[in-house]
Amino acid sequence: MLTILYRGPLASCDYDCPYCPFAKRRDSTEQLRADRAALERFCAWVADQDEEMSILFTPWGEGLVRSWYRRALVDLSRLPIVRRVAIQTNLSTRTGWLADADRDTVALWCTYHPGETPHTRFLTKTAELAALGVRFSVGVVGLPEHLDAARGLRAELPDSVYLWVNAAEGHTYTDAAAADWTAIDPLFGYSRDPHRTRGRACRTGESVVSVDGAGDVRRCHFVPELLGNLYDGSFRKALRPRPCPLDVCDCHIGYVHTEQLPLYDMFAGGVLERIPAEPVWLPLPARVP
Ligand code: SF4
Ligand code: SF4
Repeated sequence: MLTILYRGPLASCDYDCPYCPFAKRRDSTEQLRADRAALERFCAWVADQDEEMSILFTPWGEGLVRSWYRRALVDLSRLPIVRRVAIQTNLSTRTGWLADADRDTVALWCTYHPGETPHTRFLTKTAELAALGVRFSVGVVGLPEHLDAARGLRAELPDSVYLWVNAAEGHTYTDAAAADWTAIDPLFGYSRDPHRTRGRACRTGESVVSVDGAGDVRRCHFVPELLGNLYDGSFRKALRPRPCPLDVCDCHIGYVHTEQLPLYDMFAGGVLERIPAEPVWLPLPARVP
């Protein structure tokens, strides 16, 4: 099975987080049109495949405020060859359109940005997703000023929802600070420090690839070397096991695919939308039915 991380040219967002790590910009009408055309081309390619695949959209900006990303999730979720289709989102969007998606296949990776949206509004959206039966995880960036909001969110989210914490880029954590975040997300330790990956096995470039709007295929979002193109099929002959060429990997959407970490087992069935197979965030007695 092939796993595809798709990132088209879209780079605009309806939020303005001061810590935004992405190349955010205002998209012109022309750029939006190009993004739409690229996404529709990608969806048409998927619909034409025989091989099973899982897809994660990782836009630079916010995709779900654009009708074509909502349509892509609904349409792809209904294709028999698509095992999972997920997107990273700030969850500012309406949720009712997800009723048209196959809820066994669609999933959302939702990030809560405390300075950009009221707590209650975000919680209401998650309740809507739960009522629709949509799989989703929720997360926050582990900045000190987010700690109270993250604790509040954890306390108010249902036990069934996993709340992940991403280490903030360029931020180092004392053991005490890491313990605070680990109390919210027991898997925070995997995010706390970058993973040394040079020369080590990683599934990207073999069973996982990154695709851009032009269909250019790379092993992951972080290694610029081209493997070929999706639309002429040239990437296929390049797929093979290959060690990581970078010193470190510090983003979940990358290191989840490394073989040195046990994350494929821990997130079995939910690797792309970041949902652990077991409710590791609950105390042990609460996990026993
Ligand atoms: S929601 Fe995401 S893309 Fe948008 S400004 Fe915040 S961090 Fe950047
Ligand atoms: S370990 Fe990270 S940076 Fe290295 S190839 Fe895998 S995903 Fe890419």
